[in-house]
Amino acid sequence: MVVGHIQTSRLGMVRKWGRWTDLNSFAATKLYCTDIHIITSQEGTLLNDVVYNHGTAVSSFALQQRHLVTRSPIRLHYNEHLLVLVMRWWSSHAAQIPDRTKMSSYKRATLDEEELVDSIHEGEVYPSGVQVNLRRGRHRSSCWTDRTHVEKRLLVLVVVLAIGLLACLLSLVIQYRKTDNRTCLSESCISVTSAILRSLDRSVDPCEDFYSYACGGWIKTNPVPDGHSRWGTFNELWEHNQAIMKHLLENATMNFSSVAEHKAQRYYQACLNESKIEELGAKPLQNLIEKLGGWNVTGPWEKDNFQEMLEAVTAYYRISPFFSVFVSADSKNSNSNVIQIDQSGLGLPSREYYLNRTANEKVLAGYLNFMVQLGVLLGGEENITRAQMEEILDFETALANITIPQEKRRDEELIYHKITAGELKNLMPVVDWISFLRTVFHPVEINETEPVVVYAKEYLMDVSHLINRTEKRILNNYMMWNLVRKTSSLLDQRFQDAEEKFIEVMYGTKKTCTPRWKLCIADTDNNLGFALGAMFVKSTFANSSKTRAVQMIKGIKNAFEESLKTLSWMDEETRKAAKEKAEAIYDMIGYPNFIMDPKELDKVFNDYDVISDLYFENVMMFYNFSARVTSDQLRKPPNKDQWSMTPPTVNAYYSPTKNEIVFPAGILQAPFYTSSSPTALNFGGIGVVMGHELTHAFDDQGREYDKDGNLRPWWKNSSVEAFKKQTECITEQYSSYKVNGEAVNGKHTLGENIADNGGLKAAYRAYQNWVKENGEEQVLPSLGLTNDQLFFVGFAQVWCSVRTPESSHEGIITDPHSPSRYRVIGSVSNSREFSRHFQCPQGSPMNPPKKCEVW
Ligand SMILES: [Zn+2]
Repeated sequence: MVVGHIQTSRLGMVRKWGRWTDLNSFAATKLYCTDIHIITSQEGTLLNDVVYNHGTAVSSFALQQRHLVTRSPIRLHYNEHLLVLVMRWWSSHAAQIPDRTKMSSYKRATLDEEELVDSIHEGEVYPSGVQVNLRRGRHRSSCWTDRTHVEKRLLVLVVVLAIGLLACLLSLVIQYRKTDNRTCLSESCISVTSAILRSLDRSVDPCEDFYSYACGGWIKTNPVPDGHSRWGTFNELWEHNQAIMKHLLENATMNFSSVAEHKAQRYYQACLNESKIEELGAKPLQNLIEKLGGWNVTGPWEKDNFQEMLEAVTAYYRISPFFSVFVSADSKNSNSNVIQIDQSGLGLPSREYYLNRTANEKVLAGYLNFMVQLGVLLGGEENITRAQMEEILDFETALANITIPQEKRRDEELIYHKITAGELKNLMPVVDWISFLRTVFHPVEINETEPVVVYAKEYLMDVSHLINRTEKRILNNYMMWNLVRKTSSLLDQRFQDAEEKFIEVMYGTKKTCTPRWKLCIADTDNNLGFALGAMFVKSTFANSSKTRAVQMIKGIKNAFEESLKTLSWMDEETRKAAKEKAEAIYDMIGYPNFIMDPKELDKVFNDYDVISDLYFENVMMFYNFSARVTSDQLRKPPNKDQWSMTPPTVNAYYSPTKNEIVFPAGILQAPFYTSSSPTALNFGGIGVVMGHELTHAFDDQGREYDKDGNLRPWWKNSSVEAFKKQTECITEQYSSYKVNGEAVNGKHTLGENIADNGGLKAAYRAYQNWVKENGEEQVLPSLGLTNDQLFFVGFAQVWCSVRTPESSHEGIITDPHSPSRYRVIGSVSNSREFSRHFQCPQGSPMNPPKKCEVW
């Protein structure tokens, strides 16, 4: 009876004669076995390899006990970390083979769609294949002298052979033990192995296309979900964090340690109160429009109030029509905060949408429809509304025309202009600046000598001219449109639907029916994220993660500094200063300390109140509150405890003026980091993220800041020139990458690409140092990957993602990061270590002869 069926198990790849093949084709060759089955138990532990021959089990490899039992001669190939049992059968053993039907089956629960396969009973032990038969002869005589000469010679030979055999066996056992101990079979190792396997596509040669090799399986099984325009590891982790936050915010019996946490919960619940929101309809925004003097789109507009309107929307509603005003550390004097002004004011994500009309026709039409829809919902007559919205769109197009492209704004030394508030009128006479700044920064005293840093000198002059030659009514319509756009999503379902329709056109999102609670969580995190973050951290973040992360950063910094020594393009003086800067980088992990002190946390949110059930009001009051916080900061020095990301965020950043790298608790989790994962994966995940942020301190923008966070020329000219040459290589490399026929902007993405390459290099080096110090760690089963290879696979799989064509297009024209695929391919094809470990032939796509290196 031939059972001979194959279960292509989830862990199934077998290394056969040095090349990879799957279980099906392995069995089909029928060289030694007809059926190999690798099965996972309920706990996810590799239980057994069972080999059948002619329908009969003959050996079992009880991995859990690290115990091999077989009744026949067996050759064990332990290639890398894959178990291959190759059985040789001698016909004489056939009779001793137990009937398969007598065997008990595995205890298993999870492989539901797979057929159950029997195996040997756990307690059933077969005699060893190397049977020692001590056939004692009768002790007729035991005297050496009784033997004949031939007998003596034969006996010596037997003894020698026996010793030899014993030695062979011993070495086999030692070797077996050694190799066996190299494989990690813990629950977490098995589960991470299975996740990695699901993401891989081993039909792709890693040297041809490493991204498809690492992520092909993931991409095949992860279509863009409804309601999203892109999907990847970051989203998956964010979903996980959202679920935790939902639980915390909906817990009615929560014991709050601070008032601020309670405010976050009430804010969230008001957002969730859909019946109240539906009941109020468009009213809250209509009232606001009226309060601000009316909108010609929906009703009478009586006042010529450009200055007043500009001050009001900027000061009380955090809107930035024409230009943005904010408070941040002065780049050239990082110990003090200063008012900063930059270009702003487009409703679409970038100027390209307005200027390249044919390529973006659909989006422009969708945007106009969205504008009209909102206008009509707020009470406008359709035709009048459309005509006025077209004017607003034309005005935004004129703004786009004078807006400087991001790629031309990368050199901060060139765009930084410090002037006084009094001098602003020379750039933009159309605004009464002192009055404007006094309203925006009330109650702080502002006079003509107040320093202001302007990042868009030409733009401010141009926008002043544009405002001068534009009808007052259109200017007012445009400012009010900014307010409507920002606040309409706080209103009833009709407004949500209009927005979702626009998002569908803009990003290619299908069925944007995001559950209300998700919107509310994102909004609560946005506005009260540090209060919510306190709850999040207490419920999920282990302080041991913090200790471990600190150690990893230390290792990555060391690795970065080691590489720094080897760079040939840099002069010694600059190198020394760069080392000092790297050493001075401050790291922030998990959360800012103040959130764990209820008193401190309450102090921050003391002036903010939440009114139950009135969501729109709550948000308006928050804008007001946040404006007051900004004013308050103006006269205070920058504070390291003030983060730009909330603790639940799945992201990280580098702040050049603080010279600090920040890793929120939200990203310090699987798949970026776990305490139980192999170290190779942690270095490939969070390690690369750490290296990335660290390298930002030395990218084309970060390098202009010194170790104290001050923008000043601290490099020798020769090194600046050499740096530019090195970076040109990166610009060229990434400019050659295309997505749906559209080229990546190598200049715009330069900083991120430098960080990606430097991050991978530093993290890999840090991992090697870790291995030197701690010894080679165990490998994961079944993958057939060395730990060095695993490091690169782990890195690549962090970037597995899918995206709609619309979203890809948006990314190409707005995102300073390269598309995920090229974040992987770009970095590995510059890595000699990668090519060495995957044995990529010179000239193969992932091992091009020309390699770019900056750090
Ligand atoms: Zn970055």
